[in-house]
Amino acid sequence: MKDMDDMQVVVMMGGLGTRLGEITATCPKPLLPVNDRPFFEYELRLLILAGFRRFLFCTGYLSEEIEEHFGDGADYGISIDYSRDSDGKEADNEPKKLLGTGGALRKAYDKLEDDFMLVYADSFMDIDYREVVWRYRMAKKEGALSLMTLLENNGRYDSSNVIYNDGKIELYDKKPDDRMKYIDYGVNVFAKEVLKDRKEGEAFDLSEIQHGLSIEGKLAGLVVKRRFYEIGRPDSYREFIDYARDRFDVKHKAAFLDRDGVLNEIVFNEDTEQLDSPLKVSELKLLDGAAEAVKTLKDAGYYVFIITNQPAAAKGKTSLGELWDINKELCKLIPEIDEVFMCPHHPKGSERSTEKDLICKCGCRKPETGLIKEASEKYACDMEASFMAGDSYTDIQCAQAAGLKSVFIGDLKCDVCARLSYRKPDITAGSLKEAVRILTDR
Ligand SMILES: [Mg+2]
Repeated sequence: MKDMDDMQVVVMMGGLGTRLGEITATCPKPLLPVNDRPFFEYELRLLILAGFRRFLFCTGYLSEEIEEHFGDGADYGISIDYSRDSDGKEADNEPKKLLGTGGALRKAYDKLEDDFMLVYADSFMDIDYREVVWRYRMAKKEGALSLMTLLENNGRYDSSNVIYNDGKIELYDKKPDDRMKYIDYGVNVFAKEVLKDRKEGEAFDLSEIQHGLSIEGKLAGLVVKRRFYEIGRPDSYREFIDYARDRFDVKHKAAFLDRDGVLNEIVFNEDTEQLDSPLKVSELKLLDGAAEAVKTLKDAGYYVFIITNQPAAAKGKTSLGELWDINKELCKLIPEIDEVFMCPHHPKGSERSTEKDLICKCGCRKPETGLIKEASEKYACDMEASFMAGDSYTDIQCAQAAGLKSVFIGDLKCDVCARLSYRKPDITAGSLKEAVRILTDR
């Protein structure tokens, strides 16, 4: 997807890592080795792929090591500024003053932009950051000053701390309450003004501010589905080492699947009297055998990625939020899907669109291969053993341009062949189910 370069990312890095024991005596948590690189680089790569370019690292413990490693960010193609929790020069017998998350952020006040996203350097959080930023901007128009990402918890992780209903956070509190079913996930967006009444040097936790905002009705929520990894304890650190090896070092074959007409039905749009993609969640209907076919692919060891052009928001037919909701519903119906990669752009768009940013020529709209490239940067893929399937000639052109085996779903008529300059797909099948049978012998 096109870069989203308009929000600053603040990274909290000051933690002492005491629960990890001796390993953090000389190495700050963000730099702990995970296979061939420091832990925080995994999260940083996700953020860079999502399009963020301006970072502020709030450091404390062993900040010199962190600054020496990441520098000004030029090696990563980004800019990194620093704010230190303390100057690191206190005498040994004088305990360093710990400012807490809120105090450390207040200390960085002059370096903060009007709106910023905040993440923690001891966590790996693979969510759709573009959606986080978009939902925050929408919520801000309605008066919110912060957005908190949430996980449906039901006691799985720590104690639940959020009462959330219909897109609104009614209460965020560290005091347990039976109505709490959600837990804060660790990615938050703030308007800088939430800090303006706090004094520099005062120690406080950010949760105090978030609690206050929830009571005032100014804290928006976004439920995310994917679990996070963190390295706060020796066992969770080891767990991430194994996860990262499998995901980033061991190559897996991948199925890149078009969405509409392959997994779900094309819908008749009464307004335009044309066949169209679903424009709201209730219009999403799976095709017969699609869920089963995806499950078979998964069982055969494939990653399953959805690669989809969805220009309806750029054309003013629906909102970007609705498009994300449809994809989430799809993942609920077919939980084996590893990730949906969506291009929401359109070169011409429409006058009706309220999302003018989406009207552009991009590198991700099929037949361009940007989404395939993004997927293969996020996961180690064995491209030679992978394939792309779709019901349009642009899917086949995309597969061919990416060097993937191409699978056409549907009836290969002459017009499609002509558009492909008679360079035929490798496989033609009547449905995804049939294609999967040919590909996997299952
Ligand atoms: Mg299609």
